[in-house]
Amino acid sequence: MTARKALLIGIDGLLFRKVASVAAPTLQRLASTAVFAESRIYPDGTTKTVSGPGWSTIVTGTWPEKHGVQDNDFVDHRLSSYPDLLTRATREGLTTFVVAAWKPITSTVISDEVSVRHDFSEAVDWAEADRAAVDRATPLLAGDVDLAFVYLGQVDEVGHASGAASAEYAAAVESADANVARVIAAVEARPEYADEEWLVVITTDHGHTPVGGHGGQSDDERSTFVLTYGASVAAEARIELVDIAPTMLSHLGVAIDERWELDGRSVLEGVRE
Ligand SMILES: [Zn+2]
Repeated sequence: MTARKALLIGIDGLLFRKVASVAAPTLQRLASTAVFAESRIYPDGTTKTVSGPGWSTIVTGTWPEKHGVQDNDFVDHRLSSYPDLLTRATREGLTTFVVAAWKPITSTVISDEVSVRHDFSEAVDWAEADRAAVDRATPLLAGDVDLAFVYLGQVDEVGHASGAASAEYAAAVESADANVARVIAAVEARPEYADEEWLVVITTDHGHTPVGGHGGQSDDERSTFVLTYGASVAAEARIELVDIAPTMLSHLGVAIDERWELDGRSVLEGVRE
């Protein structure tokens, strides 16, 4: 039987339409060859378009009214009732890891049931933090792993400093593209790769305004995307942030339990039990 594996790459604050006009060959190629869907957060029209609710939504498969993360201070969150997909996979005996350059990812969003959680938020700058995260991810991706989450933070930080319309933001998107290329290359270099079926998902938690910043309800701030390839994802699938966790878990053979009360659904073609 083909071993099924999954990789989630998160690029914080990436306004995807910027990808087309910069030197981002990997994301450009994937946008045209993979299943790509844009959507706008949130259905309630009021949740702040910030990282806490964004990543919590992505990894739990539920909207903020369930996981309870309304902003970046995580007060009264219900992540223990609506755990992240790495935790759910770990409970099924799968091998997982997360590397991230934003501290709440490894301290709060991904539970401590996931034993391999590496934080790089103490790096000297955000470019270095992402580079260090990828440096840590690549050997882990060469080894025994079923599900990985690689988080990149530089694009968002540059967006805050200079705005999404800036040359600096464009350069940060290019550097994220190079990091994505390295992560994917690490997967494809696995000796067992030809006998494995990898589902790769690339996404973001919110967009950015032209002058920089997010949290509000403008189209640019609400802009998100999900890029999916490597497994039999329905090409017409309107995949949204909440669909990522159930899709990845289904691919890994983890049955979705109704009692989890997920808001998303698997967009894999056919039933995979
Ligand atoms: Zn963010």
